[in-house]
Amino acid sequence: MKKINIAILSISLIFSTGIFAQETEAPKEEVKEMGHFNENKFRQMYQEFSTPNQYRTGSGAPGEAYYQNQADYKMDIELDDKNKKLTGVETITYHNNSPDDLEYLWVQLDQNIRSKNSPALDKDGSGIAPVAQPGGFVNQFMKEPFDGGFNIEEVSKDGKNLPYTINYTMMRVDLPQPLKAGESYSFTIKWNYTINNHVTDRARSGYEHFPKDGNDVYVIAQFFPRMAVYNDVEGWQNMQFFGNGEFALPFGNYEVNITVPADHILDGTGEIVNRKEVYSKEMMNRYERAKKETENPVIIVTQEEAEAAEKGFSDKKKTWKLKAEMVRDFAFSSSRKFIVDMMNVNVMGKDVMAVSMYPKEGNPLWEEYSTRAVASTLKTFSNHTFQYPYHKAISVHAKNQGMEYPMICWNYGRPEEDGTYSDRVKYGMISVIIHEIGHNFFPMIVNSDERQWGWMDEGLTTFLQYLAEQEFGKEYPAAIAPKEVYPSRRGIPANIVPYMKGDQKFISPIMSNPENVYQLGNNAYGKPATALNILRETVMGHELFDYSFKTYSQRWMFKHPTPEDFFRTMEDASGVDLDWFWRGWFYGTDFVDIGVKDVKKYYVTDKATKEGAAFLERYGVTDPSSVEAVYVVEEGSEEFIEDMKGKNLLETAPKLNEYLMDNFSTAEREGMKVPKYFYEVTFSKPGGLVMPLIVEYTYADGTTQNVTYPVQIWRKNDDQVSKAIATDKEIIKVVVDPNMETADIDLENNSWPQQVKEDKFQQFKNLEGN
Ligand SMILES: [Zn+2]
Repeated sequence: MKKINIAILSISLIFSTGIFAQETEAPKEEVKEMGHFNENKFRQMYQEFSTPNQYRTGSGAPGEAYYQNQADYKMDIELDDKNKKLTGVETITYHNNSPDDLEYLWVQLDQNIRSKNSPALDKDGSGIAPVAQPGGFVNQFMKEPFDGGFNIEEVSKDGKNLPYTINYTMMRVDLPQPLKAGESYSFTIKWNYTINNHVTDRARSGYEHFPKDGNDVYVIAQFFPRMAVYNDVEGWQNMQFFGNGEFALPFGNYEVNITVPADHILDGTGEIVNRKEVYSKEMMNRYERAKKETENPVIIVTQEEAEAAEKGFSDKKKTWKLKAEMVRDFAFSSSRKFIVDMMNVNVMGKDVMAVSMYPKEGNPLWEEYSTRAVASTLKTFSNHTFQYPYHKAISVHAKNQGMEYPMICWNYGRPEEDGTYSDRVKYGMISVIIHEIGHNFFPMIVNSDERQWGWMDEGLTTFLQYLAEQEFGKEYPAAIAPKEVYPSRRGIPANIVPYMKGDQKFISPIMSNPENVYQLGNNAYGKPATALNILRETVMGHELFDYSFKTYSQRWMFKHPTPEDFFRTMEDASGVDLDWFWRGWFYGTDFVDIGVKDVKKYYVTDKATKEGAAFLERYGVTDPSSVEAVYVVEEGSEEFIEDMKGKNLLETAPKLNEYLMDNFSTAEREGMKVPKYFYEVTFSKPGGLVMPLIVEYTYADGTTQNVTYPVQIWRKNDDQVSKAIATDKEIIKVVVDPNMETADIDLENNSWPQQVKEDKFQQFKNLEGN
C-alpha cells in the first residue's frame, strides 16, 4: 500500500507544478533572512478601501442610515443678448437630511474660474510648449484673460442680508443658527456675470459667435451659484474648481424661468411647462406629431424658419418656463439660429423624446444623425443599467464642445461650409453624442463625485459608449444603417497599449484626482473603459458582469456612490473576487505582458533518472528502487534515447502497466487515456499586472485548442508558471493571448517557437535585391 502511494504522489508532483524549476537548495552561507510584508497581488484590499459602516455597507450598497441632502431651486434668469450678460435671482431651499447640524452652507461659484485673478489661469508649470494650437497660443500670449466671474449682488434670507465669504470658486454662507439635522433652510442669491466666448476661451459654457449673420448660439451651464454636496464621506465637498475636476452636486427640484429675446428658440433641463406660449401653432402641431413618430425625426423648426429668424434681432422678450425633478444640475441653450427636430423613443416601454437643436452650420450631418444617435444611446445605456427615467434627452450642436448636463448636452461635429464631411467628422460627432447623452446615466443619475473621481463617470460612460457604438444604427433602414464595423476609438484592448507601455513618469493610477493626472483622456476615459471591457469579455463573462453592473447602477440610481461602492458591488453581485483586478488596473500603473518562455517535451520511463533520484533524496528516499515510481526524461537530455520516440507510454514504462493491471479492471483500463506526448510549457510574466492566461495550442494535425487558465495561476509565482500537458497530438505552436484580449504590451514574446525576426542586414539585402 505504502509503495503505491508514493508512486501516485510523485506522478502528481512531477506533472502538476513544474516543480524542478522551483525547488532550490537552502542557502549555503549564513545569511540573515529579511522578512517582508504581504505584497501578494491577490491580497484583499482592506487597506485601500474605507471601512464599511451604516451609511455604506461592505456589499457596496447604501446602508440603513444612508442619507443625502437635497437642494431645490426657484430661479428667474435673463439673457441679455446684446451685452452678453446673464442675470439671475435664485431661491435655494436646502434640506439637511444628514444626522449633523450645519453651522454654514457651501455654495459653488464655478464661474469664478473666469475671474481675472483666477488661480486656475496659473495652475500649469510647463513653460513654453514646442508646438501649440493657435487658440491656446493666443490665450497664453496675446490676449488679456476674460473677466467673467460672478458678481454676487446679494445673499439674503427674507430680505435680510446673510454674511458670506467667497474663497475663489467657493462661497461659505454663515447661518444665524446651525441648520439642525432634518430641517430645511431657504435663502436667496442675486447674481450676474458677463458671458464668455466658449470657442476662443475653450470653456464648457458660453456663446459661439457667427460673424456672417451676426448671431450667437448660447450653451449655458454651471451658470448659477449651486449648492455643494455634504455627505458621510467628505463632509462638505468644497474642493476648488480648477477646470478638470468637474462637479459634485446634490439632487433637487428646479423651477426656472428664462427670459430671452422673443425670436430665440430655447430648451434645457426639465419640462417646458408653458410650451403653448413659447411655441408657434405650427411648432405645436409638429411637436404632437413627433410624439408618435419612432422611425424618423420630425422637424419642429425648419432650416428655412431658422434662417429667417437669424435676420430678426427682436427687441421683444419671451420667458420659457422649465420644471425638473430629481436632477443634479440645470443647463440651457438658446439662439435664433436653432433648427429643432424630435423623435419619440421607446425605452423599455417608456416614451422618451429624443431632441436635437443645431444651427444650419451643422447640416446636413445633424438632421441625419443627431436625434438617431440620441435614441440609440438611450436604448443601449438603459439595457445595461436601468430604464431612462427622464422624459427627454437633447443634443445641442456647439463647436468643439462635448459636455453633459441633465437631459441636455453640447456636441461637436461640423461639416465643411459646402456641407461635405469626412467619416472622421461623422463618427466623431456620433461618438460624442453617444458619450454625452450617455452621461445622463453617469453622473447625472448615478451621481458620483466628479471633482474627486473623474473615471467614475467618464470611464463608465466611455465603456458603455463603446458598447453603444457597436450597436449603433443596426435597427435603422438600410439606407442609413452603417455598413462597416463602427470605428470605436476607446474600449478595444489593443488601443490602450501605447498608453500602458508609455513612460511611467507620465502615467497616473486611475484612482487619481483629475487635476493631478498627466493624460486625462487616457487616465479617466480610455484606461477605465478598456479595463471594464476586458473585465466583461475576458475576466467575468457577459452574464456575471452585466448583472453586477446593473446591480451597481440600480443600487446607486439617484444616489451618490464612491469608488468602493462600485468595486464592492461588482464582487458582491457576481461572486468573483476582483481585488487583484481593482488593485492592478485602478490603483496602479502596471501593464500586462505575458509570454511563452519555453516548451519542453518529455518521455516516461520506470528506470530511475539522476534528476528523479535527487528529487526523491530530498524526501529521504536514498534508494530509488525501494519505491515504485515513474520518471520523465526530457527530449535531448543525457538520459534520453531515440528509441523512446514513437513508443507507447506503457511500453517505455512497463511498471506503469503493471500498476494498472494490479489496480484497475479491464473496463476501467479501457476508459483511460494513454497520452503520447508530455510537455512542460513555461509562461513568463514580465508585466506587473496579473491576468488570466489565455493560450492557443496548435497541434501537428493543424487543429487548435484554446485554453484559459484562471488568473489565480499567478498567485504563488508572479514571474513565471509552468503547465504540464499530456496529449495524443504533438504540439507545434503555442500562442499567448491570440485574440489580443488583455492589452498585452509586447507581442514579441507571445509565441513559441519564437517568430524569428529578420535582422537589419538581411532586410537591407532584400531591399537591394528588389
Ligand atoms: Zn464625458
